[in-house]
Amino acid sequence: MAPASKSLRTLAVHAGGLLKASRSVPIVPAIHVSTVSHFADDSEALDAALDGKDFVYSRITAQNTTLLEDAIAALEGAEDAVVFASGMAAVRAVVDAEAPRPGEKVVIAADGYGVTRLLLKTMADARGFELVALKLSEASAVERIRELKPRLVLAESVTNPLLSVPDITALSEACRAVGAALAVDGTFPSPAHQQALLLGADYAIQSTTKWLNGHSDALGGSVAASKAQVAPLKRMRLLEGTVIGPFEAWLTLRGVRTLPVRMKAHSEHAAQVARRLSESPLLDRVYYPGLPSHQHHAVARRMLQGGFGGMVAFEIKGADRQACFGFLEGVRLARAAPSLGDVATLVMHAASASARRMTPSEREAAGIGENLIRVSVGLEDPDEIADDLLQAVASVSGR
Ligand SMILES: *Cc1c(COP(=O)(O)O)cnc(C)c1O
Repeated sequence: MAPASKSLRTLAVHAGGLLKASRSVPIVPAIHVSTVSHFADDSEALDAALDGKDFVYSRITAQNTTLLEDAIAALEGAEDAVVFASGMAAVRAVVDAEAPRPGEKVVIAADGYGVTRLLLKTMADARGFELVALKLSEASAVERIRELKPRLVLAESVTNPLLSVPDITALSEACRAVGAALAVDGTFPSPAHQQALLLGADYAIQSTTKWLNGHSDALGGSVAASKAQVAPLKRMRLLEGTVIGPFEAWLTLRGVRTLPVRMKAHSEHAAQVARRLSESPLLDRVYYPGLPSHQHHAVARRMLQGGFGGMVAFEIKGADRQACFGFLEGVRLARAAPSLGDVATLVMHAASASARRMTPSEREAAGIGENLIRVSVGLEDPDEIADDLLQAVASVSGR
């Protein structure tokens, strides 16, 4: 509709701004790029919108963000969810919301994502809370939490990159007993294989950049929790501006549509690749929670549903960093890229990538060796993936 004007300047600004009212409902939601809305002649509606009751300014609430939040809350079995510009923004928001005070303790996974570790270390130094790193998949962690009485336990399930599986039910009981909040970064299994809130966690965190998006084309992060716990996270997002963009939210929701069927296929392929790798004499250890030989296989069977996920890790016998770089250059089908959750198979040298921000002694304590390779198994033919990985291993073995 064009405004009543003959001025090209006015028409250039206002013509084509509004579609006629229509009963049609698009199958796919529109991408709302407008940062701001007006309410024609209804100032009260505008006033209410500024309190978050309608869409008016996209740092407060935004259409594509809200649709994605509705979808993630549903998948996580949560009352509510909030999405952020990245997984790290989501992690940080949870720590901020729990606001550990000087002298209070925060427990994190000793064998988790290196960037999370460094973020928490940086926050602990600045704010004076005490950071305790534990291997949360070990049975002793539950007892330690009861002794430490932390403010917050930030677990990773399944851990990046060694694929350890903590018993979230046991951790949540220990947390409840001492009044600690339990946040679980469940990026690796995604809500298709694990709904951490239903196992007793207070916050379920995702880097949606990975499996939820599924196609390596949008950064994002989410936190699912009760309405009461999500409300302050949304309030802080409004103040800090850590919002996801509309196109990123739209792409992520598009990925969510196929998450369960993709995860089923990724898991089946990963299981086949892990089986093939575990038969190779050129490898030391193969890590996959679905292998009966995996240290936490029994826990994984209780904690994960419908599959064990798309991540596999393995150690190349006798390999140093140089040999691992040779492996990365030797793959032909897989791509050497430091992320996961794509439709294509991605491989990465853990010590120099996901664990890069850890100190050598932290890596050693976590059990992340120089010969450890992490694989995000894609949707290609799983035997072709295994063949490719094994030929690249062979090309650097005995060097
Ligand atoms: C990638 C990742 C993150 C960080 O997410 P970004 O979206 O890159 O900020 C956090 N936790 C885990 C387990 C991850 O794999």
